[in-house]
Amino acid sequence: MQHIKIKPGAPLSEQAEIGHNRWHPDIPELTSVKPGEEMILECLDFLDAQIKDTDSVNDVRDVDLTRAHPLTGPIHVEGAEPGDILVVDLLDIRYITPVGFSGIFAKENGGGFLVDTFPDADKAIWNLHGMHATSRHIPGVRIGAMMHPGLIGTLPSHDLLREWNRREAPLGAKKQANMPYAETAVLRGLKGAEFDRIAAEAARTVPPREHGGNLDIKNLTIGSRIYFPVYVKGAGLSMGDLHFSQGDGEISFCGAVEMDGAAHLGFDLIKGGMAKYGITAPIYVPGKHDVRYDEWLSFTGISVENRVNTYLDATVAYRQACLAAIDYISRVTDLSPAQAYMLLTAAPVEGRYGGVVDLPNASASVSIPTGIFDTNILPQGALNEAAHYGRPGVKTTRG
Ligand code: ZN
Repeated sequence: MQHIKIKPGAPLSEQAEIGHNRWHPDIPELTSVKPGEEMILECLDFLDAQIKDTDSVNDVRDVDLTRAHPLTGPIHVEGAEPGDILVVDLLDIRYITPVGFSGIFAKENGGGFLVDTFPDADKAIWNLHGMHATSRHIPGVRIGAMMHPGLIGTLPSHDLLREWNRREAPLGAKKQANMPYAETAVLRGLKGAEFDRIAAEAARTVPPREHGGNLDIKNLTIGSRIYFPVYVKGAGLSMGDLHFSQGDGEISFCGAVEMDGAAHLGFDLIKGGMAKYGITAPIYVPGKHDVRYDEWLSFTGISVENRVNTYLDATVAYRQACLAAIDYISRVTDLSPAQAYMLLTAAPVEGRYGGVVDLPNASASVSIPTGIFDTNILPQGALNEAAHYGRPGVKTTRG
């Protein structure tokens, strides 16, 4: 079985033979597999080894985001042609180095989902122990593993790439999308005129698109099966941005619990599957390898922000739910709001929409597994309602 290895701690530009950090149909393939074969693919962390196991936040503050995401690939799947479906089984996922990170990007770097409330850079280093992670920067919590690839996708065709660049350009002009940027592009070691041609057109890797890409779905855990549209001969599968755990929304943008990792993949093809099943974007069967939590505390938000009532804006509703959760955690634990923000992006919290039809307010919720905290975080009333849940060790006011 093929095993593609990385050098942890070294940027992709120093090991360019393993991958690329842009999307383009002409990136030379790394290797090929046959349907039915398996391989192990190792991947660098999504910030290209820029974040170090230190207590300084300067590496996050000064990060060069144009180096994201170092991807391993592309893998040529023999027999794959445009119109097929590429089936990828995530047979196993694990960390390579037992250290991960989460953080908050500074406003100058674009920030994250809550940039107006949290404009300053911050960082949490996580120690990964088997199926759990703890952080000296977020004490009093322990989160369970739901390892998954944040980014996995097939290569776009020339037509699809042109379409991405066309439709994203107006947003790029407003700095709401990242357009092609040649300076830090790595294209599997290409140089000279061929590099210049591809780098000028190649799409950035931040947004998810029709080929998959940076989907950031925490439930793509071990045992998941993903069905990808095939847009080029050989499909060209690439992967990166492996996570130990992630909250729904990956709200800080500086990640989940980001790690160097390896995934054991299986491959199959469904000839002509795109037309047969009407697939124009990936579909998947989530893995069953979830961490089990039996109690959750949920926070709700509605589509009202800064005293403005938006019309059914579910993104605003989710932001309000997250802000409510962060405020609460900072009241009932020793964590600061910034620490609580980093916890929400890293822990396996669940985001849900309630109604998106109850005009004018959409509703959303974010649910936190109470078991990740060392202490009981539920509200405590005079009759101590926590006792109702049979939590051991909770003092009651009645004998
Ligand atoms: Zn990530």
